[in-house]
Amino acid sequence: MNIETVDKLSETGDLSDEEFLFLLSDDNPELSEYLAKKAQKVREKHYGKDVYIRGLIEFTNFCKNNCKYCGIRCGNKNADRYRLGPEEIISCGDMGYELGFRTFVLQGGEDPYFTDDKMADIVSALKDRHPDCAVTLSIGERSRESYERLFDAGADRYLLRHETADKAHYESLHPADMSFDNRMRCLNDLRDIGYQVGCGMMIGSPGQRLEHLVRDLRFLREFKPQMVGIGPFVPHHDTEYAHMPAGSVELTLKLLSIIRLILPEVLLPATTALGTLDPLGREKGLAAGANVIMPNLSPTEVRGKYLLYDNKICTGEEAAECIRCLTMRVKNAGYDIVEDRGDHLSFKK
Ligand code: SAH
Repeated sequence: MNIETVDKLSETGDLSDEEFLFLLSDDNPELSEYLAKKAQKVREKHYGKDVYIRGLIEFTNFCKNNCKYCGIRCGNKNADRYRLGPEEIISCGDMGYELGFRTFVLQGGEDPYFTDDKMADIVSALKDRHPDCAVTLSIGERSRESYERLFDAGADRYLLRHETADKAHYESLHPADMSFDNRMRCLNDLRDIGYQVGCGMMIGSPGQRLEHLVRDLRFLREFKPQMVGIGPFVPHHDTEYAHMPAGSVELTLKLLSIIRLILPEVLLPATTALGTLDPLGREKGLAAGANVIMPNLSPTEVRGKYLLYDNKICTGEEAAECIRCLTMRVKNAGYDIVEDRGDHLSFKK
């Protein structure tokens, strides 16, 4: 077993590409357990047993992009499209605040309807009503000016997964009008502007090899994002990848532990996709080193329509039910949900 390699990783926060590849290809469950133990220790050193919650508001499933893996890509004529109005978004925020959320994540497809003016108004309204809350945006690739404008309106954080750090693999997952270079340009702009930035990748996306994941780890180590979102690929029936196998839960958990060791202070969610493939996926994610969960605050009527992949969980519940269930789950896993913005340590005022 690669025990010494794990020890080296937890002492130095880095490994050679060959060593990363060794770790990823060794599927001994004891190795994963050992990695998880080390990752837990590091997580607890920086964040204790605290789990931060992010209220996810999926406010539009219109999208101009046609990412091959995604259920809301523009080419999917069967998707039932919706947009929330500004008042609906604000009232999701108000309800979330009552439930103890201190971060709201506005996520959507790349919907040109939401111009900079409209987005800036929504962000500043949320911040005016809840000055003690953070607003995170997850609305895809935009111009630097647009990112600046939204930052000035009060947005604190931005999630934009890089999806894969291998250019050729990126091109195979996306249509020709999307580019790896623009994705990277966006991430660099977001960081320069001053956002807490999140990137991340799907695990087990079609065509992915372990070597690609090693490149992802290298990229994360160099870019040093404040947040990293990873989850297993889950096929969607209306995509060309409908019959591709889903990503591995075990490999995702192992990567969560490795990422915690590479970036000790990172904000790392146990994602919904993980909970979709394994009923205890999110609990296992916390045990592997994650410290964030992102319950859904979207109105129940639209939840089933924000279908990036099949069998997505928590599409039938009210937000209040969702948070009650998760609070129990997190407690049973030995952690505590806290009422806090949950900033990255380097951004704490
Ligand atoms: N449009 C925004 C955010 C919405 S998609 C953006 O581009 O950033 C959020 C994330 O869901 C994507 O970054 C992708 O990594 C993930 N996702 C999309 N389709 C998926 C699938 N079939 N399985 C697992 N994750 C998926």
